Amino acid sequence: MATILIVEDDALLLDALSGQLAQQGWDVLTASSVPQARTALQAQAVDGVILDLGLPGGDGMDVLVWARKHITGLPVLILTARDGIEDRVRGLNSGADDYLTKPFDMLELQARLQAMLRRSRQPAFLQASAGPSTTVGCLELDHGARTATLQGQTLELTQREWELLELLVQRVGEVVTREDVLAVWHASPLEPGQPATALNSNALEVYVHRLRKKLDTSSLSIRNIRGLGYMLEKP
Ligand code: CA
Repeated sequence: MATILIVEDDALLLDALSGQLAQQGWDVLTASSVPQARTALQAQAVDGVILDLGLPGGDGMDVLVWARKHITGLPVLILTARDGIEDRVRGLNSGADDYLTKPFDMLELQARLQAMLRRSRQPAFLQASAGPSTTVGCLELDHGARTATLQGQTLELTQREWELLELLVQRVGEVVTREDVLAVWHASPLEPGQPATALNSNALEVYVHRLRKKLDTSSLSIRNIRGLGYMLEKP
């Protein structure tokens, strides 16, 4: 289950929130000030943050700005009593993924939290919209939403995994060369300004390995074509 950090200085609310989320199966970390939040984020990998803005020792926005600078792709949901439009815009402009104002409904918070984590596991999903799809055996790809379902189950894919899988599916039965994959990756940086040198063929092997595991339960296989690349084969 995912680990969530709750940053909140209202002790009662913090207790209630962490209790509820823990009961739902989340691993919960807590912090009640800006320094504590930073320490928690540095000490442990978390999957998402619920962030209050009015905090002792600084504005919650400082945590957001800090996290954006130091932790790639960390989903942050701002939970605050500040409901002014300027606050909302400022929060979202600073890179918050969602914004919920107090008082809030616990079920809504949980739903938003889950949606936020789903999106973050599949960054490309942000531009989601239903589109043309391709089916290979029991695997179906929706190219608009950039989602894949295997035997009716949605696969959890990172952006790189999705791009690799899409390429393999588009050329099922043909060789996809390393250069083909690297060209696609090169054209779609994960972060603006990310150096292209971060993408190499060792990384490609890791992604192929991961995709193989995800296709494990199906009859599809990714064959290694020595010296050339990879081929998606259906039986
Ligand atoms: Ca507060």
